[in-house]
Amino acid sequence: MSVRPSQELRGAACAACSVAVYPADEACPRCGEAMSGIALSTSGTLWTWTVQRFAPKSPPFVAPEGGFEPFAVGYVELPEGVRVMAVLDVPDPASLRIGMPVRVRVAGGVPRAGADDQPAGTASGRNHG
Ligand SMILES: [Zn+2]
Repeated sequence: MSVRPSQELRGAACAACSVAVYPADEACPRCGEAMSGIALSTSGTLWTWTVQRFAPKSPPFVAPEGGFEPFAVGYVELPEGVRVMAVLDVPDPASLRIGMPVRVRVAGGVPRAGADDQPAGTASGRNHG
């Protein structure tokens, strides 16, 4: 009965004050009203970033096969006003710029972001499922 994991970012939004959060939460952090699940935007901008140069404590961190390698990690700001921490899939962290457009997806339960070559700014509306 397993469902294929979605690559969407499942967040939550408050109907009362329109605050959005990630990951989803039951109560609004601003007004305490109940929140409902939403699919967050997959396009955002890089808010800030850094490079993780040493292996996080294990457990809970599980080193990949071949051992730990430094990786970039940062916060992506979405149009909903949410900042999502994501692993940054870039060949060279020196190419990262604060404010650059990025695309976010979820892989293995972890948000991952990469440079967005086609920012969605002017894209027409999409249907909601
Ligand atoms: Zn609220």
